[in-house]
Amino acid sequence: MSMEADVESLIEAARAARGNAYAPYSRFAVGAAVRLAGGEIIVGANFENASFGLSLCAETVAVAAVNAQGRLADMEAIAVAGGDASPVTPCGRCRQILNEAEQVAGRPIAIYCAAANGESFARHSVTELLPFSFSPNDLGHVPPSKS
Ligand SMILES: [Zn+2]
Repeated sequence: MSMEADVESLIEAARAARGNAYAPYSRFAVGAAVRLAGGEIIVGANFENASFGLSLCAETVAVAAVNAQGRLADMEAIAVAGGDASPVTPCGRCRQILNEAEQVAGRPIAIYCAAANGESFARHSVTELLPFSFSPNDLGHVPPSKS
């Protein structure tokens, strides 16, 4: 599979997951899709709550699902899709969560941000979205590596 087809299918998986968003309050449906080493795709959708503060973003749900499978170290890329016209980007908390995943993975995680429709998307890095981040190293912790 070519790199472009790889990215397209990841974004399409994020858009499909968006259909499962539970977002009755914001009505802002977001889907996320993580690609693992080996090509497996794990998805997430935002999951709101009447208390608002407990709501979970699609990226957080997807990364937690990856972790539940013991595959955090295998994350290669994540696509997030939402919004109408312009590509949606991860919120501050999700950037921090992706930073943690990247530390565990020990390699850069590509972040593809797409709108719900259309062809435009942007590729970002964790470092670009979260410069001067607070990391496991700040706690003197070196994340376990799978390899
Ligand atoms: Zn978020």
